[in-house]
Amino acid sequence: MTHTFHQISPHVHWLSPDSTTDRPVLGVISGARGSLIVDAGNSPAHARILLKEIERHKLPAPAYLFLTHWHWDHVFGAARFSLPTFAHHETVRIVERMSQFDWSNAALDQRVRDGLEIEFCRDMLKAELPNRAGLVIRPPEIAISGQVNVHLGDVTCQLIHVGGDHAHDSTVAFVPEDRLMFLGDCIYDDLHHGPRRVTTQKLLPLYERLLAYDADCYLPSHHSEPITHQALAEECALLTKISQTVERLGDNRESILAALPQALGGPLETDHIEIADAFLAGLRLPEVESVL
Ligand SMILES: [Zn+2]
Repeated sequence: MTHTFHQISPHVHWLSPDSTTDRPVLGVISGARGSLIVDAGNSPAHARILLKEIERHKLPAPAYLFLTHWHWDHVFGAARFSLPTFAHHETVRIVERMSQFDWSNAALDQRVRDGLEIEFCRDMLKAELPNRAGLVIRPPEIAISGQVNVHLGDVTCQLIHVGGDHAHDSTVAFVPEDRLMFLGDCIYDDLHHGPRRVTTQKLLPLYERLLAYDADCYLPSHHSEPITHQALAEECALLTKISQTVERLGDNRESILAALPQALGGPLETDHIEIADAFLAGLRLPEVESVL
């Protein structure tokens, strides 16, 4: 798959993701005082593609970098940017720890055995960066706890910590002038604690919070297309119905699957079963600790 680089609104461009090696969406928010980059990419090569596109499109020079959360695919390109970097204070803490790790195959395999890394990330990391001898992981300089507004002249980037099941440090970038929000991975499942899981307690308030912003367009990091406000609201309605059924029937998968067609008003699709299973995993394990 090849990346595409598009302008999506007056101040925002985005580089499409590539699932081959789990490369996420990267963003460029450009104002009169420079550009803010959303996420560093999963390798120096990934970061370089973005920098070349910025040059090719003659966009304002990069002035800041922002990391949405600590996962490798969003931070491993950071050394390619010599820019002041914003991230949540937990992202800063964890990336500082990751910068000390041994990233050899043997050490990586051991961390998978110790439960500090998952097989999916290990395999994607090996595919993206077969040679990691010179790998430098650069921790962010500027720690956010609630919200920081970065003023780029004619446009503002609101960096807002939202948390969620996927990663407790998840932070989004809202651009009020363009009614657009980069979501990072915040709406996705937790992958690091056994079966894919989401919780009613975290996921539904998170959706409500995201929908409360005056945004027409949302960019989740591993979606190949941005989603509209209406599509996110419809997703929220579907998740709410499935979660209510799981909460009502408890840890009883058969009854949940039997009740869902009526609750959803239509036949059960694979996607619905996967969501129900993720809520069930959340019911069984409501609270988790960060793996790092
Ligand atoms: Zn992630």
